[in-house]
Amino acid sequence: MRTIALDGAKNLVERSAPDPTAGPGEVCIRVNTVGICGSDIEYYLHNRIGSFIPRGPLVLGHELSGQVVAVGSPVDPSSSSTVPGSGGHGVVVGSRVAIDPSMPCRVCAYCRAGRHNLCTNLKFIGTAATVPHLAGGFAGYVVVPRANCFLMPDDISWGEGACLEPVSVAVHAAVRAGSVAGRRVLVSGGGTIGQFVALVARAFGAAVVAVSDPQQHRREFAVSQGGDFGIDPTQPDDMARVREQTGGFDLVFEASGAAPAVRANLELVNRGGTIVQIGSIAGDVELPLNLVMSKELSIVGSFRYADVYPTSMNLLASRRVDVRPLISATYRFADTPAAFALAAERGNAIKIQVEHDG
Ligand SMILES: [Zn+2]
Ligand SMILES: [Zn+2]
Repeated sequence: MRTIALDGAKNLVERSAPDPTAGPGEVCIRVNTVGICGSDIEYYLHNRIGSFIPRGPLVLGHELSGQVVAVGSPVDPSSSSTVPGSGGHGVVVGSRVAIDPSMPCRVCAYCRAGRHNLCTNLKFIGTAATVPHLAGGFAGYVVVPRANCFLMPDDISWGEGACLEPVSVAVHAAVRAGSVAGRRVLVSGGGTIGQFVALVARAFGAAVVAVSDPQQHRREFAVSQGGDFGIDPTQPDDMARVREQTGGFDLVFEASGAAPAVRANLELVNRGGTIVQIGSIAGDVELPLNLVMSKELSIVGSFRYADVYPTSMNLLASRRVDVRPLISATYRFADTPAAFALAAERGNAIKIQVEHDG
């Protein structure tokens, strides 16, 4: 099969690799569409994320949809139903599926507590976190457990299916918030994840959804997708005006990863409010933590997702979360390097995807 692998920073090379085969309980999927995630861009730019450094060429891509071409045997049809929240139901050769790229061990203490994203033995396709690296979606085929596959309704496009993973990141953040319904929500940061979170917050019944971002096009985009306010965080008057109009914010999703925003959230969130940290921050940040005490704030982290894929697929399938406008550009497989170059500019594009040929 054809793959496009990262072989050093900004160096994507086309290589051929043996077609993978599905083992017991696994399926082989012909990849149709794969999205470029912020973490893929980090690998692309720096050939590393934190302590994860690829040991040799790395096939990126963990946001993907495709068609099942082989089902490994033996597959016990009832096995997936014993794992709460997992997929695999009705998946046969020919099924159109979107996948969960994470493979928790299902036996460690965290897995047994239902917190699969915190698994100490987690495998994940398309990253250097797993050794040996498991190839991701910038390849003709991927092999994943059948329980990681979620059927796509016929009228949901491959591109929408490939958004199931980032939608799940946003849904998990909403779950971590405790409740969203009726709360006044600020999404701090209007990048890709911030835009997905804003859509999900609306779907979860937020009373107000505001998105703050220094970039005007991101604010305007959020409002065009149903957000109530776009706020320029560099203009204190802008934030003050919206807070006065809404009565402030009870819940803040921090999706900017920007130190000034992280600090400002503690000051602007209402007393008794909740801050969900989703953005990853480069370096340490000094924070006025006395505010956590005096305002009785709750700060919770949100990392990837656990058991939210069925919910995410329901939201996608009903288009209660309509991701179609977020797909900014779709490139052909051979043009993957151009797709990464555009994504790395972090300009007006929200989500860039690559479609395999044929
Ligand atoms: Zn990702
Ligand atoms: Zn585990």
